[in-house]
Amino acid sequence: LVSRLQPFTSTIFAEMTALAQRTGAVNLGQGFPDTDGPAGMLAAARQAISDGVNQYPPGPGMPELRRAVSEHRTRYGTEYNPDTEVLVTVGATEAIAASLLALVEPGDEVVLIEPYYDSYAAAVALSGATRRTVSLVEDPVTGRFALDPAALRAAIGPRTRALLLNTPHNPTGTVLTRAELTAVAELCVANDLIAITDEVYEHLVFDGGEHIPLATLPGMAERTLAISSAGKTFNCTGWKIGWVCGPSELVSAVRAAKQYLTFVGGAPFQPAVAHALRTELAWVDGLRDDLARKRDRLSEGLREAGFGVRQCEGTYFVCADVRPLGFADGAELCWQLPERIGVAGVPVQVFTDHKEPWRHLVRFAFCKKDEVLDEALLRLHKLA
Ligand code: PMP
Ligand code: GLN
Repeated sequence: LVSRLQPFTSTIFAEMTALAQRTGAVNLGQGFPDTDGPAGMLAAARQAISDGVNQYPPGPGMPELRRAVSEHRTRYGTEYNPDTEVLVTVGATEAIAASLLALVEPGDEVVLIEPYYDSYAAAVALSGATRRTVSLVEDPVTGRFALDPAALRAAIGPRTRALLLNTPHNPTGTVLTRAELTAVAELCVANDLIAITDEVYEHLVFDGGEHIPLATLPGMAERTLAISSAGKTFNCTGWKIGWVCGPSELVSAVRAAKQYLTFVGGAPFQPAVAHALRTELAWVDGLRDDLARKRDRLSEGLREAGFGVRQCEGTYFVCADVRPLGFADGAELCWQLPERIGVAGVPVQVFTDHKEPWRHLVRFAFCKKDEVLDEALLRLHKLA
């Protein structure tokens, strides 16, 4: 294995899920839902297969999906030409990797906010660039993890080419505010950075909060690749239908890289996701409200079990502090938990370069049936 990939031989999700399966543990580690997406979307995929939509789709993605993505983005007030400014990818993961491969040179720097989703560091390494990381900072009163503009400014240097930003944020559950995003936008403009935004949890914002795409801020539309996917919005993480929207020069660069990674993907799922984007957003509102209730169920249960619980404004995840239970290290605990009490979680520190501020936190996923959450909580009570 080449040296630049040696730090990335396995993912925490694969390892924890394997451990959970081996031990029969309740898996609150890997974030995937245990119920299906909207029936109409599933029927549309079956219909597409029956109708023979089983060969290579067009390179940029099926026109009807590109149109649906473009229409969907108008909810944020942004306009993307479906023919030139939208590219369908194999999940957000490919969109992120292809964006970096297309736009950063070996030796460039890419700024990541940590904790960062695991594929970011690997994709930066594949591109030959170097990552610079900026830690979110916990507000001691609210337990919210906030972005510190001064720290971000300090991480940007003359070789910095791009910033990769995720909101709603996995694993902290932070939804970046307009003030935080404005500071990010100003730094991108001032330093002529390309912004790559990972918005896969765009619809999973709770308590009446709002997802604000960075591309909607002044000076950003022309320098932002906005990435999302169907997996989290429509409970179909295995379909791997994603997309990237941005100015045509940037999107055509991403297409150049993408065509040699996978070329195309997921033919019969593309019209099904197009259908869902056009007609199932009311279903998604219900999903979001369900998830907010699940967040509360898990957060309250974790508190009762003795954990410290941090604020979660969106996504599938809540972060729990293991110190009140007498543990110092979340990773050590996560490796024991499945065997010891039959629950799997993910240590937050694996998503960081600077581990210390994150050592005591474990991420638990709440995108699970209530009875699954309750069983996990019953078991977690045994830790006290
Ligand atoms: N970004 C984030 C923040 C994620 O949590 C995930 C995992 N679902 C992805 C990207 C990957 O998305 P996809 O499955 O569409 O590739
Ligand atoms: N995005 C999911 C998570 O954060 C898992 C994705 C994966 O397994 N690679 O849990």
